[in-house]
Amino acid sequence: MSRILITRSMPERVVAAARELGEVTYRDETKPMARDGMVAALGDFDGILTTLGDGWSAEVFEAAGAARCKLLANFGVGFNHIDVEAARKAGVVVTNTPGTVTDGTADLALTLILMTARRAGEGERLVRAGAWGGWHPVQMLGLHVTGKRLGVIGMGRIGQAIARRCHFGFGMEIGYVARSDKTLDYPATRHESLGALASASDIVVTAVPGGAETHHMVGTPVFEAMPDHGIFVNIARGDVVDEAALIAALEARRIAGAGLDVYEFEPEVPEALRALENVVLLPHLGTAALEVREAMGLMAVDNLRAVLAGEVAPNSV
Ligand code: NAP
Repeated sequence: MSRILITRSMPERVVAAARELGEVTYRDETKPMARDGMVAALGDFDGILTTLGDGWSAEVFEAAGAARCKLLANFGVGFNHIDVEAARKAGVVVTNTPGTVTDGTADLALTLILMTARRAGEGERLVRAGAWGGWHPVQMLGLHVTGKRLGVIGMGRIGQAIARRCHFGFGMEIGYVARSDKTLDYPATRHESLGALASASDIVVTAVPGGAETHHMVGTPVFEAMPDHGIFVNIARGDVVDEAALIAALEARRIAGAGLDVYEFEPEVPEALRALENVVLLPHLGTAALEVREAMGLMAVDNLRAVLAGEVAPNSV
């Protein structure tokens, strides 16, 4: 019988589906695994359902030596917490859950765009504080989003879903940067550089994967190029953005506001960011809806099922 480890608290349906595959050890905890437990797990289990925060570094694979584990089935599309090359060398397949997260994360990007542009966080704090003096014609004026120019950094599944919502829902003009041209059923301009995209956008949103290639991809030059009424939104990964540069741009009112779901050193959110009124700060809620989390988990379980049966994983990375 296959031995399976689930490293984090999961929706019940996901745990139940995994139990159909073998003997499940369920670590029903919300915090990531510690390094020693991960090293041991590679020797103790045939398949591991893991997620964001479990840092599967080269050092962990090296310390584990010859792994019993055949598969790290990641719960999530982003897998920058796994050293995929080191896993490959150790004979461990890595899979993710593409597609299941797309609409939920795009919806959250729209939440951040609207909340930031229309100063919803600030307004909510005002009302809750009992400090609202009543409606007047120049109260809390924000950015009108309809018809604005959206710049998408990373035009993959999520980037395209955000652009689709912004084009069809809000009549926005779409620009993007990606490594390749996209065929889309709405008009969109591919820009040659981040600077060109930033200067041609009222709202800039990131949707690239995290990792070495995109580390600090967005920094001072992007914020300098954006118009001063510009809104920046990050739903990708925290380290895609130079957070210190973002804070400096916000403090100097170089840009009008930011909406963030992810942070460079999360769950740490700098005091300087928390002190700013012109930012909306969410606790990595991109896929946080039961339906979405179940779909992610069931896809991870499908990958476990395939690899444990000696088949090719449907979603290897
Ligand atoms: P995807 O379909 O692979 O799209 C990634 C896009 O980024 C592609 O368009 C790709 O270009 C582009 N890209 C990659 N490296 C680039 C680079 N160096 N320069 C410019 N563009 C680059 O992935 P997805 O499903 O949309 O997911 C994107 C990311 O969102 C995930 O990796 C994850 O980190 C993040 N995410 C966050 C949440 C959340 O909770 N906030 C939820 C889900 C996902 P090409 O198309 O030309 O290859």
